[in-house]
Amino acid sequence: KFITFEGPDGAGKTSVLSELVAKLAPKLGDKLVMTREPGGNAISESIRQVILDVKNTAMDPRTEALLFAAARRQHIVETIRPALSANKIVFCDRFVDSSVAYQGAGREIGTTEVYDMNLFATEGLVPDLTLYFDVPSEVGLNRIWEHRSDEVNRLDKDALEFHIRVREAYLQQKELFAERIVTIDATQPFEAVVADALLAIKTRYPE
Ligand code: C5P
Ligand code: MG
Repeated sequence: KFITFEGPDGAGKTSVLSELVAKLAPKLGDKLVMTREPGGNAISESIRQVILDVKNTAMDPRTEALLFAAARRQHIVETIRPALSANKIVFCDRFVDSSVAYQGAGREIGTTEVYDMNLFATEGLVPDLTLYFDVPSEVGLNRIWEHRSDEVNRLDKDALEFHIRVREAYLQQKELFAERIVTIDATQPFEAVVADALLAIKTRYPE
C-alpha cells in the first residue's frame, strides 16, 4: 500500500506524520516504510540541493518542476517501487500532488501541465490513499511566522497569494480524486489531527 501525506506549509504534516509512525511502528514493524521526497538517495538529494540553492531567484518554474519530477523518479525507482514489491506499507511525505499544487498553481505553470509531465516520471504510479492536511493559508503562514524563523526568509511578501493558489489546487485535486484523497482538518489541536489521520487509515485498511 502506498499512502501519501500532503498539505500546504504550516499544516503540521511533518509532526503529525512522525507521531503516526510512532503509533503504528510497534504493530507494523518493518512492514512500515517511512519516506519523504526527495527520498534520501544520493541522486535525489543532489537534485534537491540544486532546487534549494537557487530557489526564489533564477530558477524557471518549469525547470523547477522537471527537477522535482526527476528527484521523484529516482525516489520511486530506488525506494518506493522496491518497498511496494516487497508488500510493505509505504508512507511518503509529499508526492505528485505537491508538484501540481506548488509548481502547477503556486508557480503558475498550470496544474494539468504539471500533472501530465509527472506521468513520465511515475509511469502511472498513483497513491492508494492520500491524507491531505488542510489549513487556511493565513493560518498556515502564521504558524510558520510564529514558530519557524528559519523559514521566514524563504516566504516573502508574495507568500500569501502563492499559498492561496497552492491550497486552491489541493482542494481542486481533492474534488478530482475524491476516491483517493481524504481531507484532515489540520486547524484542530495536534492530538485531534493525529486521531483523524489514524482513523482515516484504519477506515480504509481495517486490518
Ligand atoms: O514538506 P516540507 O515542509 O518539507 O516542504 C518544504 C518546502 O518545499 C515547502 O515549503 C515548499 O515550499 C517546497 N516545495 C515546493 N514544491 C514541491 C514540494 C515542496 O516548492 N513540489
Ligand atoms: Mg514541512
